Amino acid sequence: MRAGPDEEWAQVDISHPPKTEAFRTEVKEFLAEALPPDRPGIGALDEEAAWAFARDWPRRLAERRYLSLAWPEEYGGRGLSKLHQVVLMEELALAGVPFGLPQDTFGVKMLANTLLRWGTEEQKRRFLPRILSGEDTWRQGYSEPDAGSDLASLKTRAALDGEEWVIDGQKVWTSGAHHSDWIFVLARTNREAAGHRGISFLLVPLDQPGVDVRPFRMMSGQLHFNEVFFDGARTRAELVVGGVDNGWTVAQSLLGVERGEEAATNPILFRAEVERLVELARRYGKDRDPVVRQRIAWCWSKVEIMRYLGYRTLTGWLKGADPGPESSIAKLYWSEYHTEVTDLAMDIMGLHSQVPAGRSCGPTAPTTPAPPTPPRPGRRPT
Ligand SMILES: Cc1cc2nc3c(=O)[nH]c(=O)nc-3n(C[C@H](O)[C@H](O)[C@H](O)COP(=O)(O)OP(=O)(O)OC[C@H]3O[C@@H](n4cnc5c(N)ncnc54)[C@H](O)[C@@H]3O)c2cc1C
Repeated sequence: MRAGPDEEWAQVDISHPPKTEAFRTEVKEFLAEALPPDRPGIGALDEEAAWAFARDWPRRLAERRYLSLAWPEEYGGRGLSKLHQVVLMEELALAGVPFGLPQDTFGVKMLANTLLRWGTEEQKRRFLPRILSGEDTWRQGYSEPDAGSDLASLKTRAALDGEEWVIDGQKVWTSGAHHSDWIFVLARTNREAAGHRGISFLLVPLDQPGVDVRPFRMMSGQLHFNEVFFDGARTRAELVVGGVDNGWTVAQSLLGVERGEEAATNPILFRAEVERLVELARRYGKDRDPVVRQRIAWCWSKVEIMRYLGYRTLTGWLKGADPGPESSIAKLYWSEYHTEVTDLAMDIMGLHSQVPAGRSCGPTAPTTPAPPTPPRPGRRPT
């Protein structure tokens, strides 16, 4: 086809500018020094080695202010751009090492960025350094038994009693609350106001008599989620973020940070995951299986689509926009994608997929190719 007059404008340049590439060199040098030369990625380490690594790793990242790359320098950041953050994530994913621990997600990524946007000067100075140092770990108290997708129907309430908020109610699905110090809680502070109005975003210490954290065991045997009961729990009056009754806006902003950042950086991790999937198919003798190949190609295409969706979000950020609805689209897209990719990994591994990681059965792949995997009814990629 001949080029039309608009073709020049239709070219999209997605390469990174030279100054972020200079930063890439710095990260590569750090990783070359910090990791053993034959580093296999943390996922390939045995449980003890992975734990020892993970305990020390955030500290090493924090030392170089990699955990706070895009924060202003006055709060312990390096004052760099979101694009630098993406470059860092790209290099960490290539090296097979994480950005941090799960608690860093709730603290460093979600709450710290929310405080930078909405917090008072006192809140920023008090909490940001402690989040970076790992002294305070944070969890998210949004969902309730009758308030999941319909979050605005939440019933946990908080009332001022002198200099303190008193909180009553219940949260559920609270990841990791059984080994954390603080929780950010959405609570109704104005019962007259309807729906999403009259909710406040409170910072609440978990270690106190009015809070009962009850972990529940998953099918896999692991403890991850909790129910958190508040029965006269207390927090200081000034620990409301973004103003009393304005919690819905703050809560949305936090979700935008969570999903927006993931939109830009998850595809990098997903690409590495697809590469591991290809390796898995080879190991299990399924790499010539046409159905497996087709499903891997589907995964690869989806990751590319997510990469471009991520660039769209990133472009908005770089122009100074808050993450908007596009970050929720990315979240929906990747959560549905991830169900498919996990199904595929399980189909490739067959019964081996039923054995928890670290048990002896692991990578003893069959030596003869297995028969082609039948398509899964109702779950086929379209
Ligand atoms: C891995 C994981 C970790 C989590 N960690 C946390 C955490 O740390 N803190 C926290 O607060 N929460 C956490 N959650 C909870 C999560 O945010 C909720 O699961 C979510 O808000 C959905 O609520 P629900 O599970 O009650 O589902 P529901 O809201 O009951 O929805 C169930 C189904 O119904 C559909 N549905 C709901 N309403 C409608 C409608 N009006 N029209 C059409 N369909 C509808 C939904 O799409 C869904 O398929 C976590 C969840 C997961 C999976």
